[in-house]
Amino acid sequence: MQFAQRLQNVETSAIREIFKLLSTPGIISFAGGFPDAALFDVEGINEASQRALSQHPALALQYGPTEGYMPLRAQIADGMREQGSDVQATQLMVTTGSQQALDLLGKTMLSPGDKVLVEGPTFLATIQCFRLYGAEVVSVPIDQDGVQVDLLEAQIQQHKPKLIYLIPTFGNPSGAMLTLERRKRILELAAQYKVLVVEDNPYGELYFDAPPPPTLLALSAQVPGSREWLAYCGSFSKVVSPGLRLGWIVAPDALLANAAMCKQFSDANSSMLAQVTASEYLAGGRLPQALARVQKVYASRAKLMMDTLNQELGDALHYTAPQGGMFIWASLTGAGGRNRDAAAFVKRGIEHGVAAVPGAPFFATDIDHSTFRMSYASVPEEKIIEGVKRLAKAL
Ligand code: PMP
Repeated sequence: MQFAQRLQNVETSAIREIFKLLSTPGIISFAGGFPDAALFDVEGINEASQRALSQHPALALQYGPTEGYMPLRAQIADGMREQGSDVQATQLMVTTGSQQALDLLGKTMLSPGDKVLVEGPTFLATIQCFRLYGAEVVSVPIDQDGVQVDLLEAQIQQHKPKLIYLIPTFGNPSGAMLTLERRKRILELAAQYKVLVVEDNPYGELYFDAPPPPTLLALSAQVPGSREWLAYCGSFSKVVSPGLRLGWIVAPDALLANAAMCKQFSDANSSMLAQVTASEYLAGGRLPQALARVQKVYASRAKLMMDTLNQELGDALHYTAPQGGMFIWASLTGAGGRNRDAAAFVKRGIEHGVAAVPGAPFFATDIDHSTFRMSYASVPEEKIIEGVKRLAKAL
């Protein structure tokens, strides 16, 4: 069968091979990217879904507006205003996960041959999604403080990108957090070069000790001309549940209107049952407490993983010390790591009963083969210690 030409721009992910091995009995997996199901507020979501069905059956079971269920849009806008962003309900659209927001941005903005700048490393699905629309995706190096803004400016000048995709807060896979100074500089670059910056922020609320700096969206009020070059993607997946498949996008009016048109032909609207449930859940007031529990558990798991890595592999690894989110990004660049190939290391780890994800697929260009990703989010304490010990044996 002759498939569409665009499929030639993407390949199925190398990571899927690793995931096939995860069903091996007894394996400890740091490879996943899922939130911990044990932390879902099942009781609260159950009550909310019952209220959705008993109080709003004709809405919850019906088609709905493409832009989303208005009470939910208003609640999302309220929440964003509380966090310092000047957002009205009509300036955002509910999407089927933030993944769909990224897809709609690709569909709305990208023509074959357009250039896109992303962090190296970045969220793999975004690279693949933008490539499906024919874009040429180029990595800009990051460090612990996020994307390196001088290199970003040089790449803007060289490639004249159509858009720049960033995960400024607790990146996947990097765990890095962009500093306040760099955030402001990026907004200046957006306004100066008139290039759309996409801020993807599914992890921002999962901070450990202190809240992260304000989002690019919040800061755009301080940088003249930047807001019109900014799109923001949010998600309920990591703070409530990915099963709801609900995210949202905030974007300038014309971009939002075009994205809504594309969504009409994609899924018409995101599940109204999910949206009314989410709205009832937010109205029920349980989210702050549920979120605090997630923050506390992830913080203690992250700290334990870092402490154990220092003890067992301190000589071999460099890694980002996350201040929130779900991931530790490591490289075998310590003296004892000898810059070894992380893919081979991950394979040996699986033989020793522990899995991580090799870093190479997370780079659009300029691959660093010494890197790999570990998630502590869904792994109980005793398994974190045992898993890191197994990694040390594998090395
Ligand atoms: N962006 C990033 C950076 C992610 O890590 C993920 C999911 N892991 C998504 C977007 C998509 O999330 P969802 O569609 O569940 O909102």
